[in-house]
Amino acid sequence: MNADYSQILKEIYEETLELQGQGRVAAYIPALAGVNPKQYGIAIQTLQGESFQIGDALLPFSIQSISKVFTLTLAFQTLDEALWSRVGREPSGNAFNSLIQLETEHGIPRNPFINAGALVVADCLISHFPNPLAEIVQFARKLSDNPTVNFNTALANSEREAGFRNAAMVNLMKSFGTIHNEVNAVLDVYFHQCSLMMNCLDLAKAFLFLANGGVNPWNGRSILTGSQAKRINALMQVCGLYDDSGEFAFTVGLPGKSGVGGGIVALIPNSLAICVWAPELNERGSSLIGMKALELFTTKTGISIF
Ligand code: GLU
Repeated sequence: MNADYSQILKEIYEETLELQGQGRVAAYIPALAGVNPKQYGIAIQTLQGESFQIGDALLPFSIQSISKVFTLTLAFQTLDEALWSRVGREPSGNAFNSLIQLETEHGIPRNPFINAGALVVADCLISHFPNPLAEIVQFARKLSDNPTVNFNTALANSEREAGFRNAAMVNLMKSFGTIHNEVNAVLDVYFHQCSLMMNCLDLAKAFLFLANGGVNPWNGRSILTGSQAKRINALMQVCGLYDDSGEFAFTVGLPGKSGVGGGIVALIPNSLAICVWAPELNERGSSLIGMKALELFTTKTGISIF
């Protein structure tokens, strides 16, 4: 497959620009509310080493929940199958920050990508690593092959100040005994991971190991086994976009992960990873332009995993 991705990106960009103004930037995190809604970039990184970009593809943005793939990978490396006694692997069918299921399901989150699940994963990392934040940032740097990737501390603090629902989730899970460390320590890791600043190209590069059987294409080292990489892709397919996951599978048909910063990363096994960033979100918290751009990408290229 050697499609003319430059031309395809140009067409997608032009066809989706008219959607600007139809979504809303995430306003519940004060530091995100001020983001310029008109920013828009796309990057593709192939396993053959080629990259293609358009628009604001090199402008760092807050990756938010896209970071949940990095922390899940670190926890999966560490705990392997034992991880699934702490967190499930079923779609939730609820919003990313819903508390309802958590009460009825005794503090075991449905999957690692809803906030409750990511908070449990953060708890696992705290139990295992002396300095989990250093571990996370180094991992993001290694995967993206970019040593300048970093947390945005002001953003993490801003989210902490408004993070009442996330605090409620950790406290509820603590009451069920499913969180092992201090509530504030878990929230601190979570808010920092969400504040990681990366650009579209960084993210396309960082997800390439999942299109490559778990092997880091930048140094040939195994990050996950082939079987573990398949499992993370399967989880992204069924839960990566929360209650937009069905729509994403239907219209795009690739494993992907969204964040409320407006990024969506998707990948084609054995081929490439693509990241779209446009901060205006639809009502389910996914980038409105990102959803359409990725739909156009699989339509125009004819690529599908199905
Ligand atoms: N930091 C966000 C939150 O906890 C992440 C949500 C997302 O990106 O989907 O609410």
